[in-house]
Amino acid sequence: MESINLQRWREGWAQERRGRSCVLCGVIGVVENDWGRRVFTGRYLDAFLCKQGSIRGYTVAVWNGSHIAEPTHLTATEATGYWQELLRVGAAVETAFENVKMNYQILGNSVPHLHTHVIPRAPLDPAPNGPLPWTYLDHGRHDPDVFAADAALLKGALQQT
Ligand SMILES: [Zn+2]
Repeated sequence: MESINLQRWREGWAQERRGRSCVLCGVIGVVENDWGRRVFTGRYLDAFLCKQGSIRGYTVAVWNGSHIAEPTHLTATEATGYWQELLRVGAAVETAFENVKMNYQILGNSVPHLHTHVIPRAPLDPAPNGPLPWTYLDHGRHDPDVFAADAALLKGALQQT
């Protein structure tokens, strides 16, 4: 059996998990930044259409309250609200963009602030019937005109939900 190289989480991880230097705390209230444009502002989450990657409709929903890393740290009311708003965003992405399956990823292994990757899986895909490789998710960057049209499309779909 092949041996597996076990490694420790990066230096300072416990402090990051508690909110030190959190980049996602910094995006709350921001309309647009280098990686995305806000398409939804909710009571519990803000959702950003991603500029990076090659998957049209790839959206990141970010908990917009004070810093937490785990969904288990939400109150019952907050958890219900987060999930309901996430489903609203997911339904709009599902309606607006071609997909054969929707994926919802709550990971936080790089940025430990509660957020969910909402990913419409295309009919042509590097890993059909399996999880999408992270390298593909962030590979490339959308054409600005296509991105602007997609943001308008998604905002329109969100108004219908
Ligand atoms: Zn944070």
